[in-house]
Amino acid sequence: MSKHPVQMEIEKVVMELPDTKTIRLKWPAGYDPKFLTGQFITLAWPDTPKYRRAYSLSSCALDRGFFEVTIKRDGKMGTRVVDWAKEGDTMTVIPPVGKFLPVFEPGTHLVCIAGGSGVTPFRGFVREATRCQLDTRITILYSVRTPNDIIFNDEFRELEKQNPRLKFAVTCTRLEASDAWAGRRGRVDDAWIREQVTDISKTYFYACGPTPLVEFAELQVLNHMAVPKAQLRTEKWG
Ligand SMILES: Cc1cc2nc3c(=O)[nH]c(=O)nc-3n(C[C@H](O)[C@H](O)[C@H](O)COP(=O)(O)OP(=O)(O)OC[C@H]3O[C@@H](n4cnc5c(N)ncnc54)[C@H](O)[C@@H]3O)c2cc1C
Repeated sequence: MSKHPVQMEIEKVVMELPDTKTIRLKWPAGYDPKFLTGQFITLAWPDTPKYRRAYSLSSCALDRGFFEVTIKRDGKMGTRVVDWAKEGDTMTVIPPVGKFLPVFEPGTHLVCIAGGSGVTPFRGFVREATRCQLDTRITILYSVRTPNDIIFNDEFRELEKQNPRLKFAVTCTRLEASDAWAGRRGRVDDAWIREQVTDISKTYFYACGPTPLVEFAELQVLNHMAVPKAQLRTEKWG
């Protein structure tokens, strides 16, 4: 498939959080690409075509007619998109590529470790598994600073009701002891990852987000749990 840049109009924007925005990029007439859930597109603004940044699809391959990406206000591109991108704007899109792909084989369990905006590709995983009524178990272990930083909270909670094989578990790392939060506190750790696993031979691990979190997950899964490399996929965002 051609990976030539394509001009796409932003047809919808949604502020997920005060610093996080989903943009929906409309495919032009006649455009009908083959791509896979979990891949990323590369975006540029037409006035700065050489400044390109990668964004994981937060939509899935069953969503046709558009790509969705969910972007946090961070650095030059992240700030420009969150603060300035609006419906009707045009962006240059390099079509999806990447190997951060869900293994939707019968009986698999995907343990997905995410930090901050690193949860975005897992929205695509869950959408596809839920719509196709797959028997794949998906467990998302999501690290955020505070409950106000949880992206797609309502959406994942709703998907949990529709899909009994989905578990969306959040841990908050920057709460004071007096802050109200009934859920887990502290960083993702070895014990939390291990307690999700029932049959390690059928478990695939994914880690996405800030490099330190992803490297921690790699160390735990590959070294401490001795999981074969083929059962781990990572995406480091810097
Ligand atoms: C495969 C892939 C998928 C990705 N998917 C997503 C996604 O779905 N959503 C998302 O939000 N991001 C995603 N990213 C990250 C994204 O590509 C950008 O890197 C991000 O939006 C920041 O924009 P930038 O690179 O223009 O920032 P830059 O301006 O290049 O800055 C890079 C980093 O340095 C920091 N920085 C810049 N200047 C300073 C300074 N003076 N002092 C200290 N720190 C500074 C910035 O805060 C930022 O964290 C993905 C990255 C990859 C590789």
